[in-house]
Amino acid sequence: MTNLRDLSYKELEEVIISYGEKKFRSSQIWDWLTKGVSSYDEMLNVPLSLKEKLKEEYFLCGLETVKKLESKIDGTKKYLFRLYDGNMVETVVMYYKHGITVCISSQVGCAMGCKFCASTIGGLVRSLTPGEILEQVIYAQKDIGERISNIVMMGIGEPLANLGNVKKFLEIVNFEKGLNIGYRHISLSTCGIVPGIYELAKLKLPITLSISLHATTNESRSSIMPVNNTYKIEELIEACRHYQKECSRRISFEYAIIKGVNDTLKDADNLLKILKGIMCHVNVIPVNNVEENSFEKPDPKKIKDFCSHLESHGITATVRRELGSDINASCGQLRKNNL
Ligand code: SAH
Repeated sequence: MTNLRDLSYKELEEVIISYGEKKFRSSQIWDWLTKGVSSYDEMLNVPLSLKEKLKEEYFLCGLETVKKLESKIDGTKKYLFRLYDGNMVETVVMYYKHGITVCISSQVGCAMGCKFCASTIGGLVRSLTPGEILEQVIYAQKDIGERISNIVMMGIGEPLANLGNVKKFLEIVNFEKGLNIGYRHISLSTCGIVPGIYELAKLKLPITLSISLHATTNESRSSIMPVNNTYKIEELIEACRHYQKECSRRISFEYAIIKGVNDTLKDADNLLKILKGIMCHVNVIPVNNVEENSFEKPDPKKIKDFCSHLESHGITATVRRELGSDINASCGQLRKNNL
């Protein structure tokens, strides 16, 4: 059985036509799906006979909210959603001046093994389907009752390790008759799966690519990010240059700054060398607390010096505002089974 939300609009239309039904039924069904129905019964204007036919091939159950937390500091909301098979993922809604942003997961768990990240503890269970990625946006939007305008694929999982499904999700979420979220309002973050970057570049989508760089030498990066044993910094940067050539978009580099690991001016210097000639922005993220490890944030002065060094050499750097810190909704704190 397939999730009905795994279908693109065109595919849905083909199914409807193959049942001998009128085309306009697909548009009615699509509207219900976008609104966030969790069963066929809720589709009031769709004939029962058609719903019966669909039911035989496509299930529709949506996401169940197991837990919802709201930050008292900044209003950030974190959802623990249960999928049809009992697996769970987390999704976060953040309120920014430029609009409401949802941070979505692309997998249940993660195989990447970054030492500072909670999402990878316990490894990868499975990848999400396009419909399950989409449902996070739909159900978050339904819950808050306001339009979500931006998406960051920065939740649990490695999107480029699930690229087939992520590509289809991007197509569906962008579709004008559906959520209609512009590609320019979507960011995709990767720990650095180089072949995935080349594949994504082929689509030439104006989405923002974010690279979780976090270190400036291969030795140091490999020690905190196992993916660096497969794809070295040089290869990664080469792929970024290619991506930029193809998609003409500024690349965003994430730098989780960790006390005693990657927080020196020498690191800032290395970073300048690495990023030379790339149109980019550096997001410095003071490392967030994860119970299972002992990484600490550097002193604020050290972080400020790090950023000033980048800025004074022509690279814009901002310290990422920590949102949802009182509900463990910050970068690297999302996990499956968070009850
Ligand atoms: N797998 C993708 C998507 C996850 S995005 C990726 O690695 O990019 C989540 C971001 O938060 C990544 O940049 C990740 O490296 C970062 N992160 C993970 N743990 C963190 C922590 N404890 N503190 C700050 N940032 C962290």
